Amino acid sequence: MRQPESDGNLAISSDPADAAKRRRRRRRGGRGRSGATAVHDAPQPVAVREPLLFPLPATPGLFCDNPAIERAIAEAGWQQPTPIQERTLPVLRRGGDLVGQAQTGSGKTGAFGIPIMEKLDPELHVVQALVVVPTRELAEQVTTELNRLAKYTGLKALAVYGGVGYERQLQGFNRGDQIVVGTPGRIIDHLERGALSFSDVRMVVLDEADRMLDMGFQPDVERILRRTPRERQTALFSATIPVEIHDLIYKHLRDPEWVRIEMEIPTVDTVRQVYYEVAERDKFDGLLELLEMNDWPSVLIFRHTQRGVDRIEGLLRRKRYSVAAIHGGMTQAMRQASLNLFASGKVRILIATNVASRGLDIPDVSHVVNYDMPEDLDTYVHRVGRTARMGKQGTAVTFVGEGDLDMFDQLQRRLKDQLLPERLALYG
Ligand code: AMP
Repeated sequence: MRQPESDGNLAISSDPADAAKRRRRRRRGGRGRSGATAVHDAPQPVAVREPLLFPLPATPGLFCDNPAIERAIAEAGWQQPTPIQERTLPVLRRGGDLVGQAQTGSGKTGAFGIPIMEKLDPELHVVQALVVVPTRELAEQVTTELNRLAKYTGLKALAVYGGVGYERQLQGFNRGDQIVVGTPGRIIDHLERGALSFSDVRMVVLDEADRMLDMGFQPDVERILRRTPRERQTALFSATIPVEIHDLIYKHLRDPEWVRIEMEIPTVDTVRQVYYEVAERDKFDGLLELLEMNDWPSVLIFRHTQRGVDRIEGLLRRKRYSVAAIHGGMTQAMRQASLNLFASGKVRILIATNVASRGLDIPDVSHVVNYDMPEDLDTYVHRVGRTARMGKQGTAVTFVGEGDLDMFDQLQRRLKDQLLPERLALYG
């Protein structure tokens, strides 16, 4: 349900009877922008905007039965559950364990967040739910989203990750925040210091489990699980389910329901996908050419390695471009500063590695540049998914170097030749 719009009439009488009439009118759907009945020829007094009405869910009970959560969902403007939510909510709400195969951007935070909120006791100020995530950025993003959903419930989520001081996290534990969203290393750190207890945890979510295993967190994740009560409910989300994840599921989940949501492959309708054949040694010149010839509003450039990111960051800076970078070798404060610069539009170009890109939530990227070829379709889809979000148009540019031809062929086959060839001027 959309937030009811202001009717554009800023000069509103303070008569309560008029206010009641206005409210009734808005509930019926308002009178529209043309406002045939709104005749305001005379100069109006100082504009006072009536507070927006409390938005009600489109269909009560669609996401959950708790009015406090429904209110937050309505405020977020969610009208329909996403496919992962549609299939996950009933399983988690009835208490079952779950394996969800879905990407970031599918709405999975809501898929586990809503049942968590429904089950926890706001009066009880101990950790009751735990969400384990691979990166600091994802911890921040999930915490923000959960707190948005929790706004009227009396529950609170706390982000817990390394690379920052302990003080704020300890304050959160002392305050009795009920949901901990954290990276494995720092969670273990707190457990070992005795600052954190999971004896009252009822629900555990392992988010982006494949990434966590890629990053070598399996032993840590298992240690954390062993510190939670056996009768807890467990949900695991992962974009891919390699063998190691099967082991984890087999050992730690009870007869889980499997929900798989197909990857949404970008289509020509939303993302213009082009490629340039360019020799490895010419890639930087190619990038400069594209940046100079076009007025791209916001560009996200992907590289494989941290060194690669640092290198073109330095080169672009020397060419007087204002750029920001984000990769796993930077401190949390540095990454956040880069993200803020980019998200606020202060810099137009952000250079990132894949790992850092997971969990990036930047609403407005006009162009994605695959400076280095993504190593698989999943990564391509994930990177390209940073543009053309929320129904906007976007462009994805892929550089195909001499060593990328096999991967590129695979990509084109899977994408049904959607990537169209273009030619750099530097090749005449
Ligand atoms: P996630 O995959 O959880 O990171 O969610 C991706 C984005 O989709 C976030 O900005 C959410 O706020 C948004 N979102 C989640 N569920 C819905 C929904 N049912 N309707 C509209 N937007 C949603």
